Amino acid sequence: MFKADSLSYHELDEKDNLSSFRRKFFVPKKPDGSDVIYFAGNSLGLQPKTVREYVEQELKDWEIFGVEGHYAAKNPWMPYHEYLTEQTAALIGAKPMEVVNMNTLTVNLHLMLVSFYRPTKERHKILIEGHAFPSDHYALQSQIRFHGFNPAESLLEIFPREGENYLRTEDILELIKKEGSSIALIMFAGVNYYTGQAFEMDKITKAGHEKGCVVGFDLAHAAGNLVMALHDWDIDFAVWCSYKYMNGGPGAIAGCFVHEKHALNFDLPQLWGWWGHDKVTRFLMQPKYVPIPGVERWQLSNPPILQLASLRASLDIFEEAGINNLREKSEKLTGYAEDLLKENLGDKAEIITPEDKNQRGCQLSIRIIGDGRRIHEKINSEGVICDWREPDVIRIAPTPLYNTFADVYGFVEIIKKIIDEE
Ligand SMILES: *Cc1c(COP(=O)(O)O)cnc(C)c1O
Repeated sequence: MFKADSLSYHELDEKDNLSSFRRKFFVPKKPDGSDVIYFAGNSLGLQPKTVREYVEQELKDWEIFGVEGHYAAKNPWMPYHEYLTEQTAALIGAKPMEVVNMNTLTVNLHLMLVSFYRPTKERHKILIEGHAFPSDHYALQSQIRFHGFNPAESLLEIFPREGENYLRTEDILELIKKEGSSIALIMFAGVNYYTGQAFEMDKITKAGHEKGCVVGFDLAHAAGNLVMALHDWDIDFAVWCSYKYMNGGPGAIAGCFVHEKHALNFDLPQLWGWWGHDKVTRFLMQPKYVPIPGVERWQLSNPPILQLASLRASLDIFEEAGINNLREKSEKLTGYAEDLLKENLGDKAEIITPEDKNQRGCQLSIRIIGDGRRIHEKINSEGVICDWREPDVIRIAPTPLYNTFADVYGFVEIIKKIIDEE
């Protein structure tokens, strides 16, 4: 097979100073006992080997203390979510008071929309990528209907130009400039799940604010993948799940960001629950609601400790590796995959993810010419876990925490062989 680089994948792996992190994860096995090539970290990140220990600690303390574990556990449960705050904030470029882990993604999106989507007759639209993740579409449509508006009129979708695969930032900014005065909310993904395009969040936010729009992001495919600066970019709110690149486990507890500038704005409409109530007086059990300043006041319920424990194991690994170091490796790893794919697949496949490193994360989306679904099945039976997205794309996500240059090389060898046979 043709080589993309003068260095072999062996040499690239040897030079990789993050290579030891792979050993901190369980990698699924093929029937012969060898590791699969796992490129599905954009769907479900692998299990850190330390998760069991973190979760068992809490099971043990539940066993020993019962309800008293809220205070007596080694890691008292009462403030447990706070143990994750600083690491989460560091990962996404936020201040601790702007970040909380709670609920799940779509739930958090709805909670944010209750506060930040305030349509009026003159300004009722939501601007969204036309090919946004379906759950986001549903959430936005239902919120529009909830407010008595019609999604056909209030949901403003932007699509790539004819014949192009992803959105141009200039087109997004132009549309905001033109339509901004009727847009209540701009809601984009950080990284589009299908194309792998990373949006220029800082520019979109600035353009939106110039027109008086609220700007929020869904970071499902960005958290743990990109280096971000949500606070400095002045983003109003963001939500993400923690089971993709964040490796928090299936259905993991999700994350939520609200900018500091909204911390004391108690006039924002909001759904209330007891966990958003001032901590000092919460257990006086008074009916009058006294909100916590900052994002924690969007918490409704006391959080699932076992879920937090699982995510905490992963956050400790992220902290040790450092998101900047991970991103540096990620750019090399994905660049290597891109070069090898282009050289070896030629015109039998097309990468629809932007070439510009600043407009993508680790994922590459490969549009297959021919029977892509069958090709995907064959790749899978050769021990590669990656996914197929209708209508015609194979997504691969080489993640810097546990993937290797050898994984990339092995994958391209397999897909090339299968496509050549077709
Ligand atoms: C994965 C993903 C979701 C999933 O939503 P859940 O509420 O976690 O089930 C939603 N939106 C986007 C953009 C996603 O990528």
